[in-house]
Amino acid sequence: MPIYEYVCSDCNLKFELLRPLSQVNKGASCPRCHNTAKRILSTFASFSRDGNGLTSSIGSSPCASCSAANCNSCSL
Ligand SMILES: [Zn+2]
Repeated sequence: MPIYEYVCSDCNLKFELLRPLSQVNKGASCPRCHNTAKRILSTFASFSRDGNGLTSSIGSSPCASCSAANCNSCSL
């Protein structure tokens, strides 16, 4: 199952979820405040440079083994 990254629209917490593709467009629930979180689309590279370190675990992302030029064309 692919890993997807979500950001809470309320508290801005970023978190990762393993989800089947069939559920990826459904809203995720924030583990901190249980508000609706939105999926982050292909922008985590810039998020990882903002210094908060929350995305440092992205090394286990399927993107590491993806040959697509960018996440917009990545099927993972
Ligand atoms: Zn939240």
